[in-house]
Amino acid sequence: MLTIGCHLSSAKGYEAMGKEAVKIQANTFQFFTRNPRGGKAKEIKEEDVEKFLKLAQEQDFPCILAHAPYTLNGCSADEGIREFAKNTMADDLKRMEYTPGNCYNFHPGSHVKQGVEIGITYIAGMLNEILSKEQRTTVLLETMAGKGSEVGRTFEELREILDRVELQEKMGVCLDTCHVYDGGYDIVGDLDGVLTEFDRVIGLDRLKAVHLNDSMFGFGSHKDRHAKIGEGKIGFEAMKRIINHPSLRKLPFYLETPNDLEGYAREIAMLKEAYME
Ligand code: FE
Ligand code: FE
Ligand code: ZN
Repeated sequence: MLTIGCHLSSAKGYEAMGKEAVKIQANTFQFFTRNPRGGKAKEIKEEDVEKFLKLAQEQDFPCILAHAPYTLNGCSADEGIREFAKNTMADDLKRMEYTPGNCYNFHPGSHVKQGVEIGITYIAGMLNEILSKEQRTTVLLETMAGKGSEVGRTFEELREILDRVELQEKMGVCLDTCHVYDGGYDIVGDLDGVLTEFDRVIGLDRLKAVHLNDSMFGFGSHKDRHAKIGEGKIGFEAMKRIINHPSLRKLPFYLETPNDLEGYAREIAMLKEAYME
């Protein structure tokens, strides 16, 4: 069975997201742990979580994916900004323990003018301060498009971060199809080649989730502008190959396409139809 969902608003809590997912025939979803621009997280209500966990069990949701605010920058040159990223992430991971066994995805960050090496050092250092043996959440580094000075455009950069993290078993990678294509990996013309490269550099066993997005500007553009499935430069044929690829087909897929709930429902139906059971 295809594990597929989309990004949902967390404003109304866990149970509301679960119900929304069911409504659009998703069996997973992604959500921001707090306002995507950062700020204080909403209090978690245990009753809400319990209702959600019950629903998730009934509906057979294999997992959900939390996304850190995209403004966090654990490799900023500014110590205050790095501190804020660290504290926010530590708090998020504490909150994730209410729904154990899931994944938490984040953008590695932007090194601005410090260079990628320093960026990687800061990111790994932050993770080493936050991660704990007891946590039941897997933290995912997202593959980036390479906009500005984003760290994580190449598989090598992600590998380098992973290598420097002590609790490696708590880490994984989330592959964003728009980002890797914009970043210069040809998943349209040579999906096998890109996945072979991913396996060689990072290891496919570390790939835990896929963000399924078409791309408005496309190959090597470094733009990071998501398009609806089949309406961008990646195209529906390539999307079909991605969800059915033997190395990917068992992973959870998350749409982050510019859509309202109805649009997401349509894309989910389309992709289910294209999935070879
Ligand atoms: Fe993201
Ligand atoms: Fe993404
Ligand atoms: Zn993006």
